[in-house]
Amino acid sequence: STPGGSRVREEKIVVTVRVRPLNKREQLAKDTVSWECIDDHSIVYKPLPQERVAQPASFTFDKVFGPATITETVYEKGVKTVALSALMGINATIFAYGQTSSGKTYTMRGITEKAVNDIYQHIMHTPERDFRIKISGLEIYNENVRDLLNSESGRSLKLLDDPEKGTVVEKLVEETATDDQHLRNLISICEAQRQVGETALNDTSSRSHQIIRLNFVDLAGSERASQTNADGARLREGCHINLSLMTLTTVIRKLSVGKRSGHIPYRDSKLTRILQHSLGGNARTAIICTLSPASSHVEQSRNTLFFATRAK
Ligand code: ADP
Ligand code: MG
Repeated sequence: STPGGSRVREEKIVVTVRVRPLNKREQLAKDTVSWECIDDHSIVYKPLPQERVAQPASFTFDKVFGPATITETVYEKGVKTVALSALMGINATIFAYGQTSSGKTYTMRGITEKAVNDIYQHIMHTPERDFRIKISGLEIYNENVRDLLNSESGRSLKLLDDPEKGTVVEKLVEETATDDQHLRNLISICEAQRQVGETALNDTSSRSHQIIRLNFVDLAGSERASQTNADGARLREGCHINLSLMTLTTVIRKLSVGKRSGHIPYRDSKLTRILQHSLGGNARTAIICTLSPASSHVEQSRNTLFFATRAK
């Protein structure tokens, strides 16, 4: 059996959706809730009273979590199986995808915390093996790669092609965590350093020399994956096209189609180059698509659900 029991089917890509509660600003602006999670798998559009919609759009996913769901449940039911498959030598990656302010960072923080707990539980219950937990953190911003554990390194780190390891990030600092508290401290340092970032956890068993890898990826706001603003106005600063996010979208879509998808453009962006071996091959991926429930965000939420549908 898999660690923690398998609540989600053993699929390569698990796609879940999480809708956060309306926030204060949305409540003050008299926003209404536009999405309803009708069961564990389905989310439907709730039209405004003045809208005439014959058949409201409905979307189904591996798991759907409504605004009352706490992060622990999102972890347990949505991503735990994927996260802990890293302990069995599978490259595991967990993404949060969604527009800015939809809850990506909030969700990834909680998920990372739970995964760290589970990893150390596993280590405690496996005394016959030596584990070495290594962590590195990096941020990709405008295709520049920045080391989150080395604030001194101002310039962008280079990507190198290693014949054995594949793409590696040159000079990326790798810290060895002495225990779970040390690991949490290192994660906090990464969080403090990042603007929009990603954390990779490496765990090595020195006896078996097996390298296992778990990636936590907090993506740029998905509004940056689109070519134009909703109103077609000229691109504003901070709303530029994000090459890594666009390429990731293509790569995930092609991977989800399976073998028939042909060429997969991993090399088109830094994010997909770095994650190539964590996405293709002996790998499992969980995507948490985060949504604001507010009527003022319906267009972006729809885009997120279309992305989620194509990733299935
Ligand atoms: P993003 O990283 O997608 O831009 P954040 O994770 O920073 O968004 O979330 C925006 C705000 O909403 C934060 O103040 C966060 O605490 C809050 N928030 C997000 N998701 C939830 C949730 N499920 N429950 C309560 N508050 C949330
Ligand atoms: Mg964020």
